[in-house]
Amino acid sequence: MEEQIMHAEKMTVAGQLAASVAHEIRNPLTSLKGFLQLLQAGIRKEEEYYKIMLEEIEKMESVTSELLFVSKPMTDERTSESLKDMLDDVITLMDTQAKMQSITIRTEIPEGIFIFCDRSQIKQVFINIIKNAIEAMQEGGLLEIRVSRKENRVHIDINDEGPGIPEDVRQKIAEPFFTTKKNGTGLGLMISSQILDKHNGFFEIHPNETIGTTFRLVLPAE
Ligand code: ADP
Ligand code: MG
Repeated sequence: MEEQIMHAEKMTVAGQLAASVAHEIRNPLTSLKGFLQLLQAGIRKEEEYYKIMLEEIEKMESVTSELLFVSKPMTDERTSESLKDMLDDVITLMDTQAKMQSITIRTEIPEGIFIFCDRSQIKQVFINIIKNAIEAMQEGGLLEIRVSRKENRVHIDINDEGPGIPEDVRQKIAEPFFTTKKNGTGLGLMISSQILDKHNGFFEIHPNETIGTTFRLVLPAE
């Protein structure tokens, strides 16, 4: 019985996802078709049209590549990984974007905290959450990343000084394609929560007292 319910839930999620994907791809396709027809009819504002068409294609590109990541079969290859090592890698990757937006990244990551995980997938989670933090801080500021061990769990706190998250946004935050950004895909947090789930982990959202948000990732310590 329980299994049946689980199955039904999965079907609904898969169905919902398929419907949203179709929608996300159809809109840019419709627009591309329209612009091609305009060009064909000789109504020329070529440069402007090409710019929009490229943007539509890029949107489809990022949606499909993020979805391909989700549909990759989960390797059961789990290794013992240092959190400091993984986070240092990710921060190196994101530092340029942060600097361009006048964001300082400050870390408090002790050596010697390990988790048993799929390294590339957990790094993807860190990228998604840190990217959101950077995107939230349009005015610049301080981005803090702190790691601590709490009994048999680890906490990875990612603290931004962005505008915070209103209640209505928070409700829908991990739904596929939910985004408040002009060029967002709305897939980052859905993918992150799936990956964390497969690792027996989860994330929590804590509003900061003064400004911004803390995303707390919780994972079993090795
Ligand atoms: P995307 O980044 O493509 O919009 P995500 O799934 O990563 O998709 O995030 C969904 C939405 O959650 C964002 O559009 C934004 O509204 C909100 N959000 C996520 N992280 C933060 C944050 N640190 N501060 C404010 N809002 C956030
Ligand atoms: Mg995102």
